[in-house]
Amino acid sequence: MRGCQDARVHLGAYVLDGLSPAERAQVEAHTRACHACRSELADLAPLPGLLALVEEAPPAPPPELRTRVLAGAPRRRLAPRRVLALVAAALVAGIALGMVATALLPPRAPEPAVVLDLLPGEGFQTTGSASFTTTREGLRVELALTDLPPLPEGAIYEAWLSAPDTDGPISMGRVEPTPDGRATFTWFAPGALDEYSGVWVTAEPDATDPAHDGPTVAAAQLPGHGKGRDD
Ligand SMILES: [Zn+2]
Repeated sequence: MRGCQDARVHLGAYVLDGLSPAERAQVEAHTRACHACRSELADLAPLPGLLALVEEAPPAPPPELRTRVLAGAPRRRLAPRRVLALVAAALVAGIALGMVATALLPPRAPEPAVVLDLLPGEGFQTTGSASFTTTREGLRVELALTDLPPLPEGAIYEAWLSAPDTDGPISMGRVEPTPDGRATFTWFAPGALDEYSGVWVTAEPDATDPAHDGPTVAAAQLPGHGKGRDD
């Protein structure tokens, strides 16, 4: 080991216990004699702790960092320049902690793009929410309703979407409440959220008639209706 430059190249491997005994002795001899390199070594001291964080933190610690640093084999002799570069990057730029934090975050569930309150129609106390989430299968429309009153024989609740570019409302189908007047409902709509302008539920007096002619039970307008459209 000839001087500081040579010693510095080996410091990262030294703190990770990746040097041969002879190299280790040389690094120790140099840092005993050289204040600058001793100081550099002190700066690198947190690295094993960072790696321990990577290895111990639940649930699935990312092995990449240590693998990259140790090139896949514990106790294997390292390429010191590569180690030093990684150590410098980790300590100076904080990349190591960033990698750990990013890798440990659980994958986020897709959040609804829009969640709207469903407000009662005239003569009803029905409320709830409508959420719209862009998914691989299409635009997922989820309704959650409370206070749906019992309907007369033969009548049904039906969910609808309106779109400025289509003729008339689009039926999403029948909404079936529980005996206590609650209902959840999911439907996949084609296209994107900004193609729709409203969502609502009606009480259709005749289940056998596909037409929309019952009163509105609960409804919400979609924001951005007609946004970016010329017509
Ligand atoms: Zn030195």
